[in-house]
Amino acid sequence: MTSTILPVAPAVESMNALFQGLVERAPQQRQLSAKQRIKRLNALNAEVWRRRDDLKKAMWEDFQKPPEEVDLTEIFVLKSEIKAVKRSLRNWMRPRKVPSGLALVGSSSWIRPEGKGVALIIAPWNYPMQLVFRPLVAAIAAGCTALLKPSELTGHTAKVVAEIVAAVFDPREVVVVQGGVETTTHLLTLPFNHMFFTGSPQVGRVVMAAAAKLPCSVTLELGGKSPVILDASANLKSAAKRIAWSKLSNAGQICVAPDYVLVHESVRDAFVDQLQLAMDSLYPDAESKARDYQRIVHTRHAQRIEGLIIDAKERGATVIRGGEVDTVGCHVEPTILVDVPAGSRILHEEIFGPVLPVITWGHLQEAIDFIGERETPLALYLYSKKKSLIREVMSAVPSGGVSINNSIIHVTSTNLPFGGLGSSGVGSGNGEFGFREFTHFRGVYEQRWAGVGGLLMPPYTRSKSRLINAVLKWL
Ligand code: NAD
Repeated sequence: MTSTILPVAPAVESMNALFQGLVERAPQQRQLSAKQRIKRLNALNAEVWRRRDDLKKAMWEDFQKPPEEVDLTEIFVLKSEIKAVKRSLRNWMRPRKVPSGLALVGSSSWIRPEGKGVALIIAPWNYPMQLVFRPLVAAIAAGCTALLKPSELTGHTAKVVAEIVAAVFDPREVVVVQGGVETTTHLLTLPFNHMFFTGSPQVGRVVMAAAAKLPCSVTLELGGKSPVILDASANLKSAAKRIAWSKLSNAGQICVAPDYVLVHESVRDAFVDQLQLAMDSLYPDAESKARDYQRIVHTRHAQRIEGLIIDAKERGATVIRGGEVDTVGCHVEPTILVDVPAGSRILHEEIFGPVLPVITWGHLQEAIDFIGERETPLALYLYSKKKSLIREVMSAVPSGGVSINNSIIHVTSTNLPFGGLGSSGVGSGNGEFGFREFTHFRGVYEQRWAGVGGLLMPPYTRSKSRLINAVLKWL
């Protein structure tokens, strides 16, 4: 299948025509067997694999993403997702019989999973391929048609994504529309049956408001400030290595990157020393810094991160390491800040860059309160050997997900739900959880024989009243 690719920011009429094609196709798509859905997933898998080098080239041009990280954080993630979905899809699609209940004696009841219809998938730039295709895998598995809108900030990758889709899918099943705010604003007026948005909490609110007008269901995979709590019992060396890696991978441009570290005051200096060693070991020389350390996606974002560092410094924060920003080259040094004053913007806005404030606590409640004063985080990271501390923090601090003694890895699991809570998101993706977001669970009731319903209809004679009383007492 090869269809033509639309120009970036296509005319409204073209978008409307594409949408109409998806609407007309949706009833057929809903009826595809597991085998037919899997055939489509296999085709997507094969085409992504065939275009692997083009994807690497595109992501290097977009923001110098190291080729190995394209393999690990884009292609590996997508292939694992497809594999997991293929393994269980038949099971997820199966209608499930449920008991009918006493009042419905004489009947049969079951739940029929059905694709919701036409899905809109809007993606951000930080993982520009897998954040488009991972939800698409769920949409195809569920039996939906889908319109994909990749980010305009990673335009080279968006073009390859559009080519892959055009090579694999009939445009009445899946299409890509490239463009920015204006294009997305128009798409949000079309009567989709589900909107799956990954991006910032600010734009998430715009999407939810648009969905409310239709109305249609939404999945919002958003961001925010994901904290680390580290106590004195933690293995400082391995914790520092894992935190440094998860903060510097993708140059900190990860929705679940550790945003700041709350460390027990007795081990702050030792932890910061280990953190520096870990950063040195990840990017030991100029060559590895040039090759393996990613750039910031856009000058605007580099300026935003620079602004956060300057603001913190002006308020009295100490830069322990890094701090230099090249806004033209979109390069931000791995940066560690300590003694950051409470009012600093960096302690309130999502950092989304390779800058790590380290904050101390004396009593655990101080760390819990610090997180509680902010929006609900997407991820919470606990580094400790004390089970009681881990239990206490998990009970006191809500979050989308939790990792204990590691960071960010949990999002790759195809068995764990991945999503936020409150301002960090609505709903969740990955594996069966993604499938469920695009699925309508249709309740079906069939009257097999007379049952008791007729006995409870008016006129309410004394014997019927006695029967109602007896049933209520029995329950
Ligand atoms: P963004 O919200 O600016 O953009 C996301 C998408 O929305 C893009 O496709 C963009 O074109 C579109 N968009 C932007 N402004 C819009 C508007 N006013 N109206 C309609 N559409 C609009 O996010 P971003 O900068 O691309 O990505 C960074 C954010 O995404 C961070 O907050 C990060 O935490 C979050 N994120 C979350 C996840 C997750 O899975 N929870 C994953 C990656 C990124």
